[in-house]
Amino acid sequence: MGYVKSLKCRECGQEYEKTAKYVCEFCFGPLEAAYDYDKIKTDVSRGKIAARPLNIWRYREFLPVEGTRYNTLEEGYTPLIRAERLGEELGLSRLYVKNDCANPTHSFKDRVVAVASTRALELGFDTLACASTGNLANAVSAYGAKGGMKRFVFIPSNLETSKVTASLIYDPNLIGVNGNYDDVNRLCSEIAGKHKWAFVNINMRPYYAEGSKTLGFEVAEQLGWKAPDQVVVPVASGSLLTKIWKGTQEFIKVGLIENKPMRVFGAQAAGCSPVTTAYKAKTDTFRPVKPNTIAKSLAIGNPADGFYALRTIADSKGGAEMVTDEEIVEGIKLLARTEGLFAETAGGVTIGCLKKLAGSGALDPDAVTVAYVTGTGLKTQEAVTGHLREVKVIQPNLAAFEATQLVPA
Ligand SMILES: *Cc1c(COP(=O)(O)O)cnc(C)c1O
Ligand SMILES: [Zn+2]
Repeated sequence: MGYVKSLKCRECGQEYEKTAKYVCEFCFGPLEAAYDYDKIKTDVSRGKIAARPLNIWRYREFLPVEGTRYNTLEEGYTPLIRAERLGEELGLSRLYVKNDCANPTHSFKDRVVAVASTRALELGFDTLACASTGNLANAVSAYGAKGGMKRFVFIPSNLETSKVTASLIYDPNLIGVNGNYDDVNRLCSEIAGKHKWAFVNINMRPYYAEGSKTLGFEVAEQLGWKAPDQVVVPVASGSLLTKIWKGTQEFIKVGLIENKPMRVFGAQAAGCSPVTTAYKAKTDTFRPVKPNTIAKSLAIGNPADGFYALRTIADSKGGAEMVTDEEIVEGIKLLARTEGLFAETAGGVTIGCLKKLAGSGALDPDAVTVAYVTGTGLKTQEAVTGHLREVKVIQPNLAAFEATQLVPA
C-alpha cells in the first residue's frame, strides 16, 4: 500500500480520490499528490533506502503508486559527475553535473513516465498517451511497450529526426500535429476529455510530476545525504524545477537530510523564456510566447507550472537566466570539451545559463553547485552540425597523414 492520502488542490486544498483526475472542480487549480509524512518518517531510513536497487523505486515511499509491481526499465540513479574542468572555466570550485542522459530512453522523462505508467496500470488503463516536445514521446512509446499498453503519442510535426525515430522504433501511433507544443497540448486536452486514455502529462499529471522529485532525492543521496547549495534546472512546463525543490523539502521534512538553504535557478532559451522573462520583470503574471528556438524540448510558450516555478525560485532565493541559440550551441560544446559529455539542446541551455549566472555573480563560486543535464545530444545532432571541426579525409599512408600537419587538439 502506498503513502498518498489523496489528490489535493494546490490552490484551495480540496481533496480528491486517487484517480486520473488533475483539476479542481471548485477553483480549477491543479491537483497534487498529498502524502502521509508521519507514516513515511517512521517507515524510511537512509540505510533502508541505500540497501535497495539503484533505480527511482528506492524512494518508493515518496512516489504515488500503491503496489510494488513497477513498470520499469531501471530508470534513475544516474551519475552525479564532479565537473572540475568545467568548474575551473566558469569559476565554480565545487561544481557537479547530474547526467540524466544515462536513462533508458536517454532523458529524464523516463522517471516521470515510469511513475505515470505504473499508476495507469494500477488504475486499469490499457492505453498510454502524451502531448510531447520529443523526449516524452520517446519515453511513453518505450514504457507503453514495456507495460504491454497501446500507445498514442502526439508531437509537433517539426521535431528533430532522431527524436521521431526514437519513438517510432517502439511502434506507437505517432501523430505529428501542424503547430507548436501548445497547440498539441490543447488538442490532447480535448482528446483526453473524450477517450479513456492515460495521458501521462494531462489526466495523469499529478502522478507523472512526482517522478521528477527523484532528481532531487538522488542528488542529495549522492552528495552523502546532503542537499546542494544551488542548482540550475532547465525549464519547459516548470514541473521539473518545482519537483526537485519539493523532493528536497520532503527529505528534510522526514529527517533524511538536514534543513539548510538550497537556491533554485531556472534556465530557459531566449526564444522561449516566459518564466525567465517574468522573473526578470519581477512579476508573476505570464505572457505566453510563440517559441522560436533550437531548444525544442523546452519550447513550451504557455507553461502549465510556470507560476509555481516562479514561486519556487522566489521561495528558494534563486533566480532565472536565458541564453540565445548561439549560446546554447556554445554550452553544448563547452560541456563536451571540458567534461566529455554530449548533451542535447536543453543541456546547452543549462550550461549556457550556468556560465551566465556564474559570470554575473548570481551563483556563489564556492558553494556546492549542481547543473542538471536532462537529455542526450545524440537526439538533437542537427543543432551542432556545421558548428564542429571537419573530418580530414586522407589516403591510408603515413606521408598523407604527415602532410596534414595536424597537431594534437
Ligand atoms: C521535458 C524536458 C525538460 C523540462 O521539463 P518540465 O518539467 O516540463 O519543465 C527539461 N529537459 C529535457 C531534456 C526535457 O525533455
Ligand atoms: Zn481548488
